Amino acid sequence: MKVLVIEDDAQIVESLALTLQIRWPEVQVVSTHLGVEGVELAESEKPNVIILDLGLPDMSGFDVLKQIRLFSSVPLVVLTVRTEEDNIFKALELGADDYMVKPCGRLELLARISVRTRGSGSKISGGLPIYYGSFCFNPSTRQLLCHNKEVGLTTIEAHIIHCLMKNAGQVVTYSKLAEETWGDNDPGILDSLRVHIRRLRQKVELDPDHPQFIVTKPGTGYSLAKP
Ligand code: CA
Repeated sequence: MKVLVIEDDAQIVESLALTLQIRWPEVQVVSTHLGVEGVELAESEKPNVIILDLGLPDMSGFDVLKQIRLFSSVPLVVLTVRTEEDNIFKALELGADDYMVKPCGRLELLARISVRTRGSGSKISGGLPIYYGSFCFNPSTRQLLCHNKEVGLTTIEAHIIHCLMKNAGQVVTYSKLAEETWGDNDPGILDSLRVHIRRLRQKVELDPDHPQFIVTKPGTGYSLAKP
């Protein structure tokens, strides 16, 4: 298990390393405070996962992400103090797999890194495609067909859709969704569940501001309406 941390705050790097050692005593943490070096290390060190800060002294974390995605699909989690959804969306758009807002709890961090390093997402264990209305999700390939259009999903989005489709027509609680997606339902994770749902809606809903497919049940969770 090798983790590349691209972050210019030495205290955060140290605390990340200590936290990672709780779950992976043998973890090897490689770190740099520079984006340029981060891109190089992503190529030369072949880490299992990358944790990337957006505010770096030499270049923007978004540009680091873009460059890394030119040659690698390594799981990458953005770590940021920026809570604006625009920033988070942009990071996900550029190919980040997940994001965490600093300061981030240890359990949340470990839950998210665990999901990222579970390889091809062992929780989605394959199986036959699931159909619901004009949607079809194939757990083996993690492909979603939506009105005959193929929708690209991140691993996290695939977990969410899989859980909703398995329970189509019923309300799936926030904590159940978080549990199935991250193996944890820490309150911090529920916040990001909302962000991922918003992003999913932008991909599958005809009018994301008035969702017809992923419907919110206020205070409880989400349910999938027949498209
Ligand atoms: Ca920073």
